[in-house]
Amino acid sequence: MSNITDLGIKAIRDGVRDGTFSAREVAEAFNANVAAGKELNAFLVETPEHALAAADAADKARAAGEELAPMAGVPVGMKDLFCTDGVEATAGSHILEGFTPQYESTVSANLWKAGAGMLGKLNMDQFAMGSSNETSAFGNVISPWRRNDGGNTDLAPGGSSGGSASAVSGRLCPAATGTDTGGSIRQPAAFVGISGIKPTYGRCSRWGVVAFASSLDQAGSMAHDVTDCAIMLQAMAGFDPKDATSLDLPVPDWENALSGDLKGKRVGIPKEYRIDGTPKEIDDLWEQGAEWLRDAGAEIVEISLPHTKYALPAYYIIAPAEASSNLARYDGVRYGQRELPDGAGLQDMYAATRAEGFGPEVKRRIMIGTYVLSAGFYDAYYTQAQKVRSLIARDFEQAWEHCDMILAPTAPSAAFGLGEKADDPLAMYLNDVFAVPASLAGLPAMSVPGGLDGQGLPLGLQIVGKALDEQSVLNAGLAIEQRAGFTARPDKWW
Ligand code: GLN
Repeated sequence: MSNITDLGIKAIRDGVRDGTFSAREVAEAFNANVAAGKELNAFLVETPEHALAAADAADKARAAGEELAPMAGVPVGMKDLFCTDGVEATAGSHILEGFTPQYESTVSANLWKAGAGMLGKLNMDQFAMGSSNETSAFGNVISPWRRNDGGNTDLAPGGSSGGSASAVSGRLCPAATGTDTGGSIRQPAAFVGISGIKPTYGRCSRWGVVAFASSLDQAGSMAHDVTDCAIMLQAMAGFDPKDATSLDLPVPDWENALSGDLKGKRVGIPKEYRIDGTPKEIDDLWEQGAEWLRDAGAEIVEISLPHTKYALPAYYIIAPAEASSNLARYDGVRYGQRELPDGAGLQDMYAATRAEGFGPEVKRRIMIGTYVLSAGFYDAYYTQAQKVRSLIARDFEQAWEHCDMILAPTAPSAAFGLGEKADDPLAMYLNDVFAVPASLAGLPAMSVPGGLDGQGLPLGLQIVGKALDEQSVLNAGLAIEQRAGFTARPDKWW
Protein backbone atom coordinates (compact mmCIF):
# COMPACT_ATOMS: atom_id res chain seq x y z
CA MET A 1 0.00 0.00 0.00
CA SER A 2 1.11 3.54 -0.61
CA ASN A 3 1.85 5.83 2.27
CA ILE A 4 -1.17 6.48 4.49
CA THR A 5 -0.59 10.21 4.21
CA ASP A 6 -1.06 10.01 0.43
CA LEU A 7 -4.69 9.09 1.03
CA GLY A 8 -7.70 11.37 1.07
CA ILE A 9 -10.87 11.30 3.15
CA LYS A 10 -12.73 8.57 1.28
CA ALA A 11 -9.75 6.20 1.13
CA ILE A 12 -9.03 6.71 4.83
CA ARG A 13 -12.66 6.33 5.85
CA ASP A 14 -13.06 3.14 3.80
CA GLY A 15 -9.69 1.75 4.93
CA VAL A 16 -10.60 2.23 8.58
CA ARG A 17 -14.01 0.61 7.99
CA ASP A 18 -12.43 -2.38 6.21
CA GLY A 19 -9.69 -2.72 8.79
CA THR A 20 -6.95 -2.17 6.17
CA PHE A 21 -5.36 0.05 8.80
CA SER A 22 -6.43 1.43 12.14
CA ALA A 23 -7.53 5.00 12.70
CA ARG A 24 -4.69 5.32 15.20
CA GLU A 25 -2.15 4.50 12.47
CA VAL A 26 -3.71 7.23 10.32
CA ALA A 27 -3.61 9.83 13.08
CA GLU A 28 -0.02 8.94 13.98
CA ALA A 29 1.10 9.20 10.34
CA PHE A 30 -0.43 12.66 9.89
CA ASN A 31 0.73 13.85 13.31
CA ALA A 32 4.25 12.92 12.20
CA ASN A 33 3.90 14.86 8.93
CA VAL A 34 2.60 17.89 10.83
CA ALA A 35 5.58 17.73 13.20
CA ALA A 36 8.00 17.38 10.28
CA GLY A 37 6.36 20.12 8.20
CA LYS A 38 7.22 23.18 10.27
CA GLU A 39 9.03 24.92 7.41
CA LEU A 40 5.69 25.43 5.67
CA ASN A 41 4.46 27.36 8.74
CA ALA A 42 0.97 26.03 8.01
CA PHE A 43 0.01 25.21 11.61
CA LEU A 44 -0.32 27.74 14.42
CA VAL A 45 -1.28 25.15 17.02
CA GLU A 46 -0.75 21.39 16.82
CA THR A 47 -3.29 19.16 18.54
CA PRO A 48 -1.99 15.59 18.04
CA GLU A 49 -3.86 14.35 21.11
CA HIS A 50 -7.20 15.50 19.65
CA ALA A 51 -6.55 13.50 16.47
CA LEU A 52 -5.48 10.45 18.50
CA ALA A 53 -8.53 10.58 20.77
CA ALA A 54 -10.91 10.67 17.78
CA ALA A 55 -8.94 7.85 16.15
CA ASP A 56 -9.13 5.69 19.27
CA ALA A 57 -12.86 6.29 19.47
CA ALA A 58 -13.21 5.14 15.84
CA ASP A 59 -11.11 2.02 16.43
CA LYS A 60 -13.08 1.19 19.55
CA ALA A 61 -16.40 1.60 17.76
CA ARG A 62 -15.21 -0.70 15.00
CA ALA A 63 -13.97 -3.31 17.47
CA ALA A 64 -17.39 -3.21 19.15
CA GLY A 65 -19.04 -3.85 15.78
CA GLU A 66 -20.76 -0.46 15.76
CA GLU A 67 -21.55 1.40 12.56
CA LEU A 68 -18.86 4.01 11.96
CA ALA A 69 -19.70 7.70 11.61
CA PRO A 70 -19.21 9.28 8.14
CA MET A 71 -15.73 10.64 8.86
CA ALA A 72 -14.65 8.22 11.59
CA GLY A 73 -10.89 7.95 11.69
CA VAL A 74 -10.25 10.96 9.42
CA PRO A 75 -8.08 13.68 10.97
CA VAL A 76 -8.45 17.19 9.55
CA GLY A 77 -6.89 20.63 9.92
CA MET A 78 -9.00 23.57 11.16
CA LYS A 79 -8.52 27.07 9.86
CA ASP A 80 -7.76 29.25 12.87
CA LEU A 81 -10.95 31.25 12.27
CA PHE A 82 -12.97 28.42 13.87
CA CYS A 83 -13.23 28.39 17.65
CA THR A 84 -12.58 24.98 19.13
CA ASP A 85 -13.08 24.34 22.82
CA GLY A 86 -9.93 24.79 24.89
CA VAL A 87 -7.57 25.49 21.96
CA GLU A 88 -6.16 28.96 21.31
CA ALA A 89 -7.84 30.78 18.40
CA THR A 90 -6.15 33.89 16.99
CA ALA A 91 -7.60 34.35 13.49
CA GLY A 92 -3.99 35.07 12.53
CA SER A 93 -3.93 38.26 14.62
CA HIS A 94 -1.95 39.42 17.65
CA ILE A 95 -5.07 41.02 19.05
CA LEU A 96 -6.53 37.59 19.81
CA GLU A 97 -3.30 36.10 21.10
CA GLY A 98 -3.96 34.12 24.26
CA PHE A 99 -7.70 33.84 23.56
CA THR A 100 -8.84 30.30 24.32
CA PRO A 101 -12.51 29.76 23.50
CA GLN A 102 -14.55 27.77 25.98
CA TYR A 103 -16.94 26.65 23.28
CA GLU A 104 -16.98 24.80 20.01
CA SER A 105 -18.00 26.28 16.66
CA THR A 106 -21.00 24.48 15.15
CA VAL A 107 -18.97 23.42 12.10
CA SER A 108 -16.20 21.86 14.19
CA ALA A 109 -18.76 20.25 16.52
CA ASN A 110 -20.43 18.74 13.45
CA LEU A 111 -17.10 17.38 12.25
CA TRP A 112 -16.32 15.78 15.61
CA LYS A 113 -19.82 14.32 15.67
CA ALA A 114 -19.05 12.79 12.26
CA GLY A 115 -16.01 11.10 13.82
CA ALA A 116 -13.26 13.41 12.53
CA GLY A 117 -10.33 14.47 14.72
CA MET A 118 -8.26 17.66 14.70
CA LEU A 119 -4.57 17.79 13.75
CA GLY A 120 -4.29 21.46 14.66
CA LYS A 121 -5.22 25.05 13.89
CA LEU A 122 -4.10 26.42 10.55
CA ASN A 123 -2.39 29.70 9.80
CA MET A 124 -4.31 32.23 7.73
CA ASP A 125 -4.43 35.83 6.62
CA GLN A 126 -5.21 38.03 9.58
CA PHE A 127 -9.01 38.00 10.14
CA ALA A 128 -9.20 36.30 6.70
CA MET A 129 -8.23 39.54 4.95
CA GLY A 130 -5.83 38.76 2.15
CA SER A 131 -5.10 36.58 -0.84
CA SER A 132 -1.59 35.36 -0.07
CA ASN A 133 -1.46 34.59 3.66
CA GLU A 134 1.07 37.40 4.04
CA THR A 135 -1.14 39.37 6.42
CA SER A 136 -0.88 36.73 9.16
CA ALA A 137 0.71 38.05 12.33
CA PHE A 138 2.48 34.72 12.68
CA GLY A 139 4.57 34.63 9.54
CA ASN A 140 4.01 33.65 5.95
CA VAL A 141 2.71 30.23 5.06
CA ILE A 142 4.86 28.77 2.31
CA SER A 143 3.36 26.83 -0.56
CA PRO A 144 4.84 23.35 -1.01
CA TRP A 145 5.04 24.14 -4.74
CA ARG A 146 8.11 25.55 -6.48
CA ARG A 147 8.47 26.96 -9.96
CA ASN A 148 10.22 24.60 -12.36
CA ASP A 149 12.96 27.14 -13.06
CA GLY A 150 15.35 25.43 -10.67
CA GLY A 151 15.11 28.40 -8.28
CA ASN A 152 13.74 28.19 -4.79
CA THR A 153 11.52 31.26 -4.63
CA ASP A 154 8.98 30.79 -1.85
CA LEU A 155 5.49 30.96 -3.32
CA ALA A 156 2.25 32.16 -1.76
CA PRO A 157 -0.23 29.38 -0.99
CA GLY A 158 -3.02 31.87 -1.68
CA GLY A 159 -5.30 33.24 0.98
CA SER A 160 -6.87 33.68 3.23
CA SER A 161 -7.08 29.90 3.83
CA GLY A 162 -3.38 29.58 3.01
CA GLY A 163 -2.47 27.30 5.89
CA SER A 164 -5.28 24.96 4.86
CA ALA A 165 -4.07 24.94 1.25
CA SER A 166 -0.43 24.38 2.09
CA ALA A 167 -1.16 21.66 4.67
CA VAL A 168 -3.44 19.64 2.38
CA SER A 169 -1.20 19.99 -0.65
CA GLY A 170 1.88 19.09 1.41
CA ARG A 171 0.05 16.05 2.88
CA LEU A 172 0.20 17.34 6.43
CA CYS A 173 -3.53 16.67 6.59
CA PRO A 174 -5.89 14.85 4.23
CA ALA A 175 -8.36 17.75 4.26
CA ALA A 176 -9.02 21.03 6.01
CA THR A 177 -11.75 23.53 6.68
CA GLY A 178 -11.60 26.88 4.98
CA THR A 179 -13.76 29.97 4.94
CA ASP A 180 -14.63 32.02 1.90
CA THR A 181 -15.76 35.64 2.07
CA GLY A 182 -14.56 36.64 -1.38
CA GLY A 183 -12.59 33.67 -2.66
CA SER A 184 -10.59 32.44 0.31
CA ILE A 185 -11.34 28.76 -0.28
CA ARG A 186 -11.26 28.76 -4.07
CA GLN A 187 -8.17 30.86 -4.80
CA PRO A 188 -5.82 29.04 -2.38
CA ALA A 189 -7.17 25.67 -3.59
CA ALA A 190 -6.32 26.74 -7.15
CA PHE A 191 -2.83 27.93 -6.15
CA VAL A 192 -1.84 24.56 -4.68
CA GLY A 193 -3.64 22.12 -6.97
CA ILE A 194 -6.39 20.88 -4.64
CA SER A 195 -10.19 21.14 -4.68
CA GLY A 196 -12.25 23.45 -2.51
CA ILE A 197 -15.94 24.28 -2.26
CA LYS A 198 -17.80 27.19 -0.77
CA PRO A 199 -21.45 26.20 -0.38
CA THR A 200 -24.51 28.41 -0.65
CA TYR A 201 -24.49 31.16 1.97
CA GLY A 202 -26.25 29.74 5.03
CA ARG A 203 -25.42 26.05 4.49
CA CYS A 204 -22.73 26.06 7.18
CA SER A 205 -23.34 27.77 10.47
CA ARG A 206 -21.19 30.81 11.22
CA TRP A 207 -21.60 30.29 14.96
CA GLY A 208 -18.19 30.17 16.62
CA VAL A 209 -16.40 31.35 13.48
CA VAL A 210 -14.55 34.64 13.97
CA ALA A 211 -16.51 37.16 11.87
CA PHE A 212 -14.99 39.12 9.00
CA ALA A 213 -17.94 40.20 6.79
CA SER A 214 -21.01 38.43 8.10
CA SER A 215 -23.19 38.71 5.00
CA LEU A 216 -20.47 36.98 2.94
CA ASP A 217 -18.57 34.64 5.29
CA GLN A 218 -19.17 30.97 4.57
CA ALA A 219 -17.28 27.85 5.63
CA GLY A 220 -16.39 25.04 3.25
CA SER A 221 -14.09 22.11 2.64
CA MET A 222 -10.65 21.83 1.02
CA ALA A 223 -9.38 18.40 0.01
CA HIS A 224 -7.56 16.38 -2.63
CA ASP A 225 -10.58 15.72 -4.81
CA VAL A 226 -14.23 16.46 -5.41
CA THR A 227 -15.53 13.37 -3.62
CA ASP A 228 -13.58 14.26 -0.48
CA CYS A 229 -14.90 17.83 -0.62
CA ALA A 230 -18.46 16.44 -0.82
CA ILE A 231 -17.99 14.07 2.13
CA MET A 232 -16.51 16.76 4.35
CA LEU A 233 -18.98 19.49 3.41
CA GLN A 234 -21.82 17.09 4.16
CA ALA A 235 -20.40 16.61 7.65
CA MET A 236 -19.92 20.37 8.21
CA ALA A 237 -23.26 21.69 6.92
CA GLY A 238 -26.66 21.80 8.57
CA PHE A 239 -29.21 24.07 10.19
CA ASP A 240 -28.16 25.79 13.38
CA PRO A 241 -30.62 27.85 15.42
CA LYS A 242 -27.64 29.75 16.87
CA ASP A 243 -26.98 31.43 13.50
CA ALA A 244 -29.89 33.55 12.28
CA THR A 245 -28.69 33.23 8.67
CA SER A 246 -28.40 29.45 8.80
CA LEU A 247 -30.65 27.67 6.30
CA ASP A 248 -33.29 25.43 7.84
CA LEU A 249 -32.98 22.76 5.17
CA PRO A 250 -31.85 19.14 5.21
CA VAL A 251 -28.28 18.47 4.03
CA PRO A 252 -28.42 16.47 0.79
CA ASP A 253 -26.35 13.30 0.41
CA TRP A 254 -23.96 14.95 -2.03
CA GLU A 255 -21.48 12.09 -2.05
CA ASN A 256 -24.08 9.51 -2.99
CA ALA A 257 -25.50 11.61 -5.83
CA LEU A 258 -22.10 12.43 -7.35
CA SER A 259 -22.06 11.87 -11.10
CA GLY A 260 -19.76 13.15 -13.81
CA ASP A 261 -22.50 12.68 -16.40
CA LEU A 262 -23.72 16.13 -17.44
CA LYS A 263 -26.19 15.11 -20.15
CA GLY A 264 -28.99 17.63 -20.41
CA LYS A 265 -27.07 20.29 -18.46
CA ARG A 266 -26.11 23.67 -19.88
CA VAL A 267 -22.89 25.34 -18.84
CA GLY A 268 -22.61 29.11 -19.19
CA ILE A 269 -19.40 30.89 -20.20
CA PRO A 270 -19.70 34.50 -19.03
CA LYS A 271 -18.29 36.79 -21.68
CA GLU A 272 -17.47 39.53 -19.17
CA TYR A 273 -14.93 37.23 -17.52
CA ARG A 274 -12.70 37.55 -20.59
CA ILE A 275 -10.51 40.22 -19.10
CA ASP A 276 -7.61 41.91 -20.90
CA GLY A 277 -4.31 40.87 -19.46
CA THR A 278 -5.40 37.39 -18.34
CA PRO A 279 -2.51 35.06 -19.17
CA LYS A 280 -3.10 32.96 -22.29
CA GLU A 281 -2.54 29.75 -20.33
CA ILE A 282 -5.52 30.60 -18.13
CA ASP A 283 -7.75 31.38 -21.11
CA ASP A 284 -6.61 28.16 -22.80
CA LEU A 285 -7.39 26.10 -19.71
CA TRP A 286 -10.81 27.73 -19.51
CA GLU A 287 -11.50 26.65 -23.10
CA GLN A 288 -10.19 23.19 -22.36
CA GLY A 289 -12.50 23.02 -19.33
CA ALA A 290 -15.48 23.85 -21.53
CA GLU A 291 -14.36 21.07 -23.88
CA TRP A 292 -14.21 18.60 -20.96
CA LEU A 293 -17.70 19.53 -19.84
CA ARG A 294 -18.99 19.17 -23.42
CA ASP A 295 -17.39 15.73 -23.47
CA ALA A 296 -19.28 14.95 -20.25
CA GLY A 297 -22.54 15.63 -22.08
CA ALA A 298 -23.15 19.31 -21.30
CA GLU A 299 -24.13 21.97 -23.77
CA ILE A 300 -21.90 25.04 -23.64
CA VAL A 301 -23.59 28.42 -24.01
CA GLU A 302 -22.24 31.96 -23.89
CA ILE A 303 -23.93 34.06 -21.22
CA SER A 304 -23.68 37.62 -19.98
CA LEU A 305 -23.19 38.84 -16.42
CA PRO A 306 -23.24 42.54 -17.29
CA HIS A 307 -22.34 43.99 -13.88
CA THR A 308 -19.23 41.86 -13.38
CA LYS A 309 -16.83 44.79 -13.55
CA TYR A 310 -18.49 46.42 -10.54
CA ALA A 311 -18.25 43.32 -8.36
CA LEU A 312 -14.71 43.86 -7.10
CA PRO A 313 -15.20 47.53 -6.13
CA ALA A 314 -18.54 46.68 -4.47
CA TYR A 315 -16.93 43.82 -2.55
CA TYR A 316 -14.11 46.07 -1.34
CA ILE A 317 -16.72 48.45 0.10
CA ILE A 318 -19.15 45.95 1.60
CA ALA A 319 -16.55 43.60 3.13
CA PRO A 320 -14.56 46.38 4.88
CA ALA A 321 -17.80 48.06 6.03
CA GLU A 322 -18.91 44.89 7.76
CA ALA A 323 -15.41 44.22 9.05
CA SER A 324 -15.15 47.68 10.62
CA SER A 325 -18.29 46.92 12.56
CA ASN A 326 -17.42 43.31 13.46
CA LEU A 327 -13.92 44.21 14.60
CA ALA A 328 -15.16 46.92 16.96
CA ARG A 329 -15.42 44.20 19.60
CA TYR A 330 -11.63 43.92 19.94
CA ASP A 331 -11.21 46.51 22.63
CA GLY A 332 -8.67 45.03 25.02
CA VAL A 333 -11.41 44.15 27.49
CA ARG A 334 -13.06 41.02 26.23
CA TYR A 335 -10.47 38.98 24.36
CA GLY A 336 -6.77 38.35 24.00
CA GLN A 337 -4.35 41.23 23.95
CA ARG A 338 -4.59 44.32 26.18
CA GLU A 339 -2.26 47.33 26.04
CA LEU A 340 -2.55 49.50 29.13
CA PRO A 341 0.10 52.24 29.07
CA ASP A 342 0.95 53.83 32.43
CA GLY A 343 -1.74 56.22 33.56
CA ALA A 344 -3.94 55.34 30.60
CA GLY A 345 -7.69 55.85 30.64
CA LEU A 346 -10.26 53.65 28.95
CA GLN A 347 -10.05 55.37 25.55
CA ASP A 348 -6.24 55.19 25.64
CA MET A 349 -6.43 51.48 26.33
CA TYR A 350 -8.75 50.90 23.38
CA ALA A 351 -6.50 52.89 21.10
CA ALA A 352 -3.27 51.33 22.31
CA THR A 353 -4.65 47.80 22.12
CA ARG A 354 -6.02 48.26 18.62
CA ALA A 355 -2.88 50.04 17.40
CA GLU A 356 -0.69 47.23 18.68
CA GLY A 357 -2.96 44.30 18.00
CA PHE A 358 -4.17 44.78 14.43
CA GLY A 359 -1.88 44.39 11.44
CA PRO A 360 -1.66 46.99 8.65
CA GLU A 361 -4.13 45.32 6.25
CA VAL A 362 -6.72 44.99 9.00
CA LYS A 363 -6.28 48.65 9.91
CA ARG A 364 -6.66 49.59 6.24
CA ARG A 365 -9.95 47.67 6.05
CA ILE A 366 -11.26 49.21 9.29
CA MET A 367 -10.45 52.70 8.00
CA ILE A 368 -12.03 52.06 4.58
CA GLY A 369 -15.06 50.48 6.23
CA THR A 370 -15.51 53.32 8.70
CA TYR A 371 -15.17 55.87 5.91
CA VAL A 372 -17.76 54.25 3.62
CA LEU A 373 -20.20 54.01 6.53
CA SER A 374 -19.65 57.55 7.74
CA ALA A 375 -22.61 59.95 7.59
CA GLY A 376 -21.23 62.03 4.72
CA PHE A 377 -20.25 59.14 2.47
CA TYR A 378 -22.68 56.36 3.31
CA ASP A 379 -24.93 56.96 0.30
CA ALA A 380 -22.08 57.54 -2.10
CA TYR A 381 -20.33 54.29 -1.22
CA TYR A 382 -22.16 51.81 0.97
CA THR A 383 -25.68 52.32 -0.45
CA GLN A 384 -24.31 52.26 -4.00
CA ALA A 385 -22.36 49.08 -3.31
CA GLN A 386 -25.46 47.40 -1.91
CA LYS A 387 -27.36 48.33 -5.06
CA VAL A 388 -24.57 46.88 -7.18
CA ARG A 389 -24.73 43.74 -5.08
CA SER A 390 -28.42 43.36 -5.96
CA LEU A 391 -27.66 43.87 -9.63
CA ILE A 392 -24.96 41.20 -9.51
CA ALA A 393 -27.36 38.75 -7.88
CA ARG A 394 -29.88 39.63 -10.60
CA ASP A 395 -27.27 38.99 -13.33
CA PHE A 396 -26.96 35.43 -12.05
CA GLU A 397 -30.75 35.02 -11.79
CA GLN A 398 -31.07 36.02 -15.43
CA ALA A 399 -28.18 33.76 -16.44
CA TRP A 400 -29.96 30.75 -14.91
CA GLU A 401 -32.61 31.15 -17.60
CA HIS A 402 -29.95 30.03 -20.07
CA CYS A 403 -27.71 27.67 -18.11
CA ASP A 404 -27.49 25.41 -15.04
CA MET A 405 -23.99 26.35 -13.96
CA ILE A 406 -21.14 28.63 -14.93
CA LEU A 407 -17.54 27.82 -15.78
CA ALA A 408 -14.75 30.37 -15.26
CA PRO A 409 -11.14 30.51 -14.16
CA THR A 410 -10.66 30.58 -10.39
CA ALA A 411 -7.96 33.25 -10.35
CA PRO A 412 -6.29 35.46 -12.97
CA SER A 413 -2.81 34.08 -12.19
CA ALA A 414 -0.98 31.08 -10.85
CA ALA A 415 0.65 31.36 -7.42
CA PHE A 416 2.91 34.40 -7.15
CA GLY A 417 6.09 34.72 -5.12
CA LEU A 418 5.88 35.86 -1.51
CA GLY A 419 6.52 39.59 -1.44
CA GLU A 420 5.71 40.11 -5.13
CA LYS A 421 2.37 41.80 -4.47
CA ALA A 422 2.63 42.52 -0.76
CA ASP A 423 3.21 46.28 -1.22
CA ASP A 424 0.40 46.79 -3.68
CA PRO A 425 -3.02 46.22 -2.13
CA LEU A 426 -4.84 46.88 -5.41
CA ALA A 427 -2.85 44.23 -7.29
CA MET A 428 -3.63 41.86 -4.44
CA TYR A 429 -7.36 42.70 -4.51
CA LEU A 430 -7.42 42.10 -8.28
CA ASN A 431 -6.57 38.46 -7.66
CA ASP A 432 -10.14 38.04 -6.36
CA VAL A 433 -11.76 39.29 -9.57
CA PHE A 434 -13.30 35.95 -10.63
CA ALA A 435 -14.18 34.87 -7.10
CA VAL A 436 -16.16 37.74 -5.59
CA PRO A 437 -19.27 37.80 -7.82
CA ALA A 438 -20.43 34.37 -6.54
CA SER A 439 -19.72 35.53 -2.98
CA LEU A 440 -21.79 38.69 -3.38
CA ALA A 441 -24.66 36.58 -4.75
CA GLY A 442 -24.28 33.93 -2.01
CA LEU A 443 -23.93 31.14 -4.58
CA PRO A 444 -22.12 27.81 -4.25
CA ALA A 445 -18.79 27.75 -6.08
CA MET A 446 -15.84 25.43 -6.25
CA SER A 447 -12.35 25.27 -7.66
CA VAL A 448 -10.84 22.10 -9.10
CA PRO A 449 -7.32 21.73 -10.46
CA GLY A 450 -7.21 21.77 -14.26
CA GLY A 451 -3.55 21.63 -15.16
CA LEU A 452 -0.13 23.22 -14.77
CA ASP A 453 1.17 26.43 -16.31
CA GLY A 454 4.53 26.82 -18.05
CA GLN A 455 6.25 27.28 -14.69
CA GLY A 456 4.89 23.96 -13.48
CA LEU A 457 2.33 25.60 -11.15
CA PRO A 458 -1.30 24.50 -10.73
CA LEU A 459 -4.20 26.38 -12.29
CA GLY A 460 -7.79 26.00 -11.13
CA LEU A 461 -11.14 26.01 -12.87
CA GLN A 462 -14.17 27.42 -11.09
CA ILE A 463 -17.76 26.23 -11.27
CA VAL A 464 -20.54 28.45 -9.92
CA GLY A 465 -24.01 27.01 -9.35
CA LYS A 466 -27.53 28.07 -8.49
CA ALA A 467 -28.36 28.68 -4.85
CA LEU A 468 -28.69 25.34 -3.01
CA ASP A 469 -27.45 23.40 -6.04
CA GLU A 470 -24.08 22.28 -4.66
CA GLN A 471 -24.78 18.96 -6.37
CA SER A 472 -24.44 20.39 -9.89
CA VAL A 473 -21.29 22.23 -8.85
CA LEU A 474 -19.76 19.04 -7.46
CA ASN A 475 -20.86 17.00 -10.47
CA ALA A 476 -19.30 19.43 -12.94
CA GLY A 477 -16.18 19.46 -10.75
CA LEU A 478 -16.09 15.69 -10.93
CA ALA A 479 -16.52 15.74 -14.72
CA ILE A 480 -13.49 18.04 -14.98
CA GLU A 481 -11.50 15.97 -12.50
CA GLN A 482 -12.18 12.78 -14.48
CA ARG A 483 -10.87 14.38 -17.65
CA ALA A 484 -8.06 16.62 -16.39
CA GLY A 485 -6.18 13.66 -14.93
CA PHE A 486 -4.43 16.06 -12.55
CA THR A 487 -1.94 13.97 -10.59
CA ALA A 488 0.90 16.49 -10.23
CA ARG A 489 2.13 17.09 -6.70
CA PRO A 490 4.92 19.14 -5.24
CA ASP A 491 8.33 17.57 -4.65
CA LYS A 492 9.05 17.42 -0.95
CA TRP A 493 11.74 19.99 0.01
CA TRP A 494 10.65 20.82 3.55
N1 GLN B 1 -8.98 38.06 -0.66
C1 GLN B 1 -10.24 38.57 -0.26
C2 GLN B 1 -10.07 39.62 0.79
O1 GLN B 1 -8.99 39.91 1.13
C3 GLN B 1 -11.13 37.46 0.20
C4 GLN B 1 -10.84 37.00 1.56
C5 GLN B 1 -11.75 35.93 2.02
O2 GLN B 1 -12.48 35.32 1.24
N2 GLN B 1 -11.74 35.71 3.33
O3 GLN B 1 -11.01 40.16 1.29
